[in-house]
Amino acid sequence: MAKEDTLVIHEIYASIQGESTFAGLPCTFVRTTGCNLRCSWCDTPQAFYGGTRLPRAEVLARALATGTELVELTGGEPLLQPGVRPLLTELCDAGRTVLVETSGEADVAGVDPRVHVIMDLKAPGSGESERNRWSNLEHLREKDEIKFVLASREDYEWMRDVVRARALSRVTPKLLASTVFGKLLPRDLVAWVLADRLPVRVQLQMHKVIWAPDAQGV
Ligand code: SF4
Repeated sequence: MAKEDTLVIHEIYASIQGESTFAGLPCTFVRTTGCNLRCSWCDTPQAFYGGTRLPRAEVLARALATGTELVELTGGEPLLQPGVRPLLTELCDAGRTVLVETSGEADVAGVDPRVHVIMDLKAPGSGESERNRWSNLEHLREKDEIKFVLASREDYEWMRDVVRARALSRVTPKLLASTVFGKLLPRDLVAWVLADRLPVRVQLQMHKVIWAPDAQGV
């Protein structure tokens, strides 16, 4: 069996999309196992190890069986597994709106152009800022999204400088800014964004508001 014919999967479930411009919509999440980063505030460390190796055809069938229009590949880091790119294409071929959440370290070149890439840029508070693969910006399109998760004023200023210096709103108008739960108050972020008239969309992680800050599999 070729290496792209199977995937190591942590979980597959339907919920509502908690972040991005798709927030609030019913969505099936396919969470892959494994990540090569260790963000200080990571909320899915349970997906670093373990999981179940499944044939890609089974992952596809299970993702389609939930019946949601929206399907997201997340992790962990989905793009580490060679089976993810063909799975993304198969989900698009099946008529789904497909999202992939990626860390900003993994190379997004060659992802099916129908897929909406939601790419992090890691601020210093993550401890992984040095890993940002800046060349990824050349591969993003207007419909893709760039996400910043911020833990402090220092992180905010880093984002502001990156947005301006790299003219990110010319890459995509979908620039998302959210806070690390319990580290930075959303109202402080809102005040700073307004003061600077920064063209970012402040987000709350809806699933954490609806369920609990540490809720898993929801
Ligand atoms: S890239 Fe995502 S999954 Fe990996 S450590 Fe950072 S937050 Fe966690």
